[in-house]
Amino acid sequence: MTPRGMVRETFDLRIPEGKASEWLSPNDGTSLGGSVRKLLVRRDEPVVDVVREAQRHYRSLGSAFYLAWSVFRKYSKAELANAAAFMLKPHPVEMAGEEYGTTYDEYVSCPLCGTGALQTSPLTLACRRLPRKDFCRSLGWELIVSARVVRAFVDAGVTGVEFAPIICSETGVASENWRQLVVSRHDVHIASPTEVGIGPFEEVSALTEKYECARGHLLGLNIISEASIDRNTWGDEDIAFSDQFIGIRRGLIRPHRVLFISPKVRAIIANENLTGTGLEVVHVV
Ligand SMILES: [Zn+2]
Repeated sequence: MTPRGMVRETFDLRIPEGKASEWLSPNDGTSLGGSVRKLLVRRDEPVVDVVREAQRHYRSLGSAFYLAWSVFRKYSKAELANAAAFMLKPHPVEMAGEEYGTTYDEYVSCPLCGTGALQTSPLTLACRRLPRKDFCRSLGWELIVSARVVRAFVDAGVTGVEFAPIICSETGVASENWRQLVVSRHDVHIASPTEVGIGPFEEVSALTEKYECARGHLLGLNIISEASIDRNTWGDEDIAFSDQFIGIRRGLIRPHRVLFISPKVRAIIANENLTGTGLEVVHVV
């Protein structure tokens, strides 16, 4: 059996060429237009130690070694077939309900980390700016789904969700094409050994700690590894949110709960060719 997250997990790091040439060999990664080095790495490669050390060095100077990162995970058919849960990452759109008059009750949010504000009016968005994807999420992590998703989920009896209208700012009328996906439960507990932090190959520091909440609402800025969830908190519904938050409150950006789906929902997404979904296997522990 393959150790989890060790083989088909690839991190994509973007490093300014000046820093890259100082720390890496010319063969590490590929130059993008001469100013940025793209480095694809797996956790078990020796160059990771260099990245870790360089990141520690630049963090101590108030800077960073890599500018941006992402991670890709590829699964075998067997892994997908055997998984008891998946994390769904909807396509991000650079828009937030707040920009178009959607109201939130901030009074109930945590004064330390800004999580937990409640949406108090129908979601209003510039519908014409929404991409042709079946799943999207706004900067505030409002979930937007197509009419195809609504039909597929209702037909299949997917549990744990409701569909609320989305008002189009252009017309003031509820959209025919889009609905807000409202998730009923938020009690799935993200558990150890889920790795949370600013980015990969980064140590916990005063800097990373500021992305956590002392009251425990906010785990950190990003989930770095595959997620693990507590078995006792999963399985009652086809779709549910985590009880903890990830991210940051900054401008229109809000911390968000993590979205988990059942194998049944993954099958619907696959069979209906629904788009705008990054899917990862979740470990139920
Ligand atoms: Zn908090």
